[in-house]
Amino acid sequence: MRINVLDHGYIQKIESWGSDQQIIESARMSTDKGFLGWGPFPCDKCTDGTQSVSLSDGWLGEGQGKTRVQVIQCQKCKGTQQVPGDERLLKFLYEHKHSTPFEFAGLTIEVQAPIFVYREWHRHRTQSYTEMSGRYVTLPNLFYLPSLERLQSAKQSTTNKQASEDGIALAHARIMQEQMRQSYEASREVYEFLLGQGLARELARDVLPVAQYSRMRASANLRNWLGFLTLRTANNAQYEIRVYAQQVANIIAETFPRTYALYVGSA
Ligand SMILES: Cc1cc2nc3c(=O)[nH]c(=O)nc-3n(C[C@H](O)[C@H](O)[C@H](O)COP(=O)(O)OP(=O)(O)OC[C@H]3O[C@@H](n4cnc5c(N)ncnc54)[C@H](O)[C@@H]3O)c2cc1C
Ligand SMILES: [Zn+2]
Repeated sequence: MRINVLDHGYIQKIESWGSDQQIIESARMSTDKGFLGWGPFPCDKCTDGTQSVSLSDGWLGEGQGKTRVQVIQCQKCKGTQQVPGDERLLKFLYEHKHSTPFEFAGLTIEVQAPIFVYREWHRHRTQSYTEMSGRYVTLPNLFYLPSLERLQSAKQSTTNKQASEDGIALAHARIMQEQMRQSYEASREVYEFLLGQGLARELARDVLPVAQYSRMRASANLRNWLGFLTLRTANNAQYEIRVYAQQVANIIAETFPRTYALYVGSA
């Protein structure tokens, strides 16, 4: 399913691998124990599925064989039981930066975005990319035209050279938007003229602006995506990449809900 982003862009999940459970399994290679189970658990005495609440968590056993456990109490009969609490192990791994198990899960997405967004995105060198070739195909007649609201809030900041702030009047924003649109149209016209003259696509594209939409696939492990989210959902990231990063965050929240909750908790 494609999620629309900006005026002509989208993000689509292509595939994911691993899961919160498999992260635990990867971590447990060291103790040969595998996944033990998530809490909270229903009471083992009450048959109506009453949930238990956690009283404490700690370790059972010694040395290599020790297991993370929690003591839980039934909300109804007040009986206690000791159960594996793998959500505790996941939290422990995350908070103590035992990062490698989070590299055993991952995600591939397809992204349609303006080229200037890719300029920022491709700085994340530890992701893998493939992109539509402007040598091979005619680029789509799609350009990013900022909305009037975006333009109005995009006055060059005087305190932060990389930022924009409120302060452009609506009438002025309309003129700017129209100028941008005309400029894109003119570029496209020359591009198509050059192609029509038989010029190779690899050179004809030189006249296209960085607002030109392109398409790519990006693939990375979960640890890596969380690093990307930290940088690109932050307030100081440019709005146009932030809206893509927010959709990546939604996909990760759906696919790896427990890890994502830990990420949000620590952000
Ligand atoms: C708000 C914002 C503003 C920015 N402004 C600018 C700017 O003005 N100019 C500019 O050029 N860039 C700018 N960047 C890009 C930034 O410098 C990073 O290149 C980009 O965020 C990618 O981050 P990364 O290196 O952590 O990601 P990745 O390349 O994916 O690397 C992930 C991690 O792997 C390790 N790693 C990867 N490669 C190396 C290496 N060669 N050596 C050592 N460790 C490595 C590091 O631990 C790194 O954090 C900006 C980024 C943001 C978010
Ligand atoms: Zn009970």
